[in-house]
Amino acid sequence: MTSQNARQCLAGLKSKSVRFAGLPSKSFDGGCRMIDTIKLMDFGTQTTNLGAMTCPLASSFTDWARFAVVPAAKKYLGSEVVKIETMGTFNCRAIAGSRSGRLSEHAFANAVDVSAFVLRDGRRVSVLNGWRGSSEERAFLRRLHQSACKRFGTVLGPDYNAAHANHFHFDMAKSMSNGTAYCR
Ligand SMILES: [Zn+2]
Repeated sequence: MTSQNARQCLAGLKSKSVRFAGLPSKSFDGGCRMIDTIKLMDFGTQTTNLGAMTCPLASSFTDWARFAVVPAAKKYLGSEVVKIETMGTFNCRAIAGSRSGRLSEHAFANAVDVSAFVLRDGRRVSVLNGWRGSSEERAFLRRLHQSACKRFGTVLGPDYNAAHANHFHFDMAKSMSNGTAYCR
């Protein structure tokens, strides 16, 4: 049984020529769950390790790849991104480093961790090395971070804490205190 919001979101993805497969909804011990999730099959850029994603997350991610990653690679690196590397989406766990034990958005398939970009010319720009890398790599990654802040509810990168030195964390949850996007 797919909710009205999810149906609208899925129709939106289809209209943007994104190929995806619907996944069965599941609940797990400890409160983790995948409800109305999909697996992205093709949206223009090969991407590794994408598992279950909520539709709003998948929609923001494909928009970010198309309208931020592709043009920023051309502008700052003079090349084309042929592969986006991620560290996955669904993961049944609490927020890393948090004492509250509150579940991570990864526990709801509502988050993705992006670690690197492989270019047509063979270069690989990782968040780990590029964030403090050459001026072009810095500019490229900061542009992607900035653009993500307009598209996702929460964006965490290397400047947030050591746990994020090697990836950008994107999820759809906004700040619980004031309902605005959280961008660090
Ligand atoms: Zn994450």
